[in-house]
Amino acid sequence: MLEMPDDLILHVTGLKKYYPITTGFLQKVSGYVRAVDDVNLSVPQGQSLGLVGESGCGKTTTARSILRAIDPTEGEIYFRLSDGKIVDMSKLNAKQLKEVRSDIQMVFQDPFSSLNPRLPVLDIIAEPLKVQGWKRNKYENRVSELLQVVGLNSSYMRRYPHAFSGGQRQRIGIARALAVNPALVVADEPVSALDVSVQAQILNLIKELQEEMGLTYLFIAHDLSVVRYICDTVAVMYLGKIVELADTEDLFINPLHPYTSALLAAVPDADPHQPWLGQTLSGEIPDASTKIDGCPFAPRCEYALDICRKQAPLLNPMGDNEHTVACHRASELELKGVV
Ligand code: SF4
Repeated sequence: MLEMPDDLILHVTGLKKYYPITTGFLQKVSGYVRAVDDVNLSVPQGQSLGLVGESGCGKTTTARSILRAIDPTEGEIYFRLSDGKIVDMSKLNAKQLKEVRSDIQMVFQDPFSSLNPRLPVLDIIAEPLKVQGWKRNKYENRVSELLQVVGLNSSYMRRYPHAFSGGQRQRIGIARALAVNPALVVADEPVSALDVSVQAQILNLIKELQEEMGLTYLFIAHDLSVVRYICDTVAVMYLGKIVELADTEDLFINPLHPYTSALLAAVPDADPHQPWLGQTLSGEIPDASTKIDGCPFAPRCEYALDICRKQAPLLNPMGDNEHTVACHRASELELKGVV
């Protein structure tokens, strides 16, 4: 029987997703793109974990591997279903995956392409309910209720997606994700495609729903300011690895990894009188197919020493709270956070 601490919904260990690089007529494997490289993370019931990093850092591949939208190369993905049973998502076959799918629902990045334009809202939101065998009279009531929960008029269920704004479409996507009372909601950059003016409304909704319904989120974002509002814990990813993981406020006030500090510096300050942190990221993330002996952030890090280029830092705890960081110089650097 599989076991994990009682308070956890999700417990991922040693997750890897490598894509083979093939060359020549015989398609010989000449190397691997290490899109996700030994990721460990846990999400407690009713809490939110933010996965943050630049585009290409592996955060979406991590989420897709957890969901089994793609097959991981290695690792365990322990997931507690809503009936309390624990499964290892990495070991499930297609039939078993179909049975557990309703317990992990996803809110997609693009509310324009994620809703079928040929279906009315009723059928879009009822899709997971129909899979569970709900009859029309029952699912119509449920859709009406869900529309109200996400702040839309229930009379909208007969309309088609084109009749809605981006923010309204994302509310419909959230209603669809909540239809079957999932144990975990994976939100993949749920506000990044929206106008800035409606982003805050959708974030408010996501936060309110969590408080009212006790939802558990795995929240993916490239923008640290978004996760600060939503998440209890944040994992910062760089080149397929978690480089820092901490309680959200601790991470913002006291970042220990130069990459986190640089991401924080890129977040505009709400107060124009506060000094700019003065540190911004330059250069691109190195190619994930290149074998790197030392710290993967070294080519972009202003604090890099010789050891950084020779030896990869491990993710280790720092201090007396649950703050972990992969940096040789974490104990000596005084990095700037935000208040
Ligand atoms: Fe920078 Fe070295 Fe720390 Fe890597 S290990 S983040 S190169 S100081």
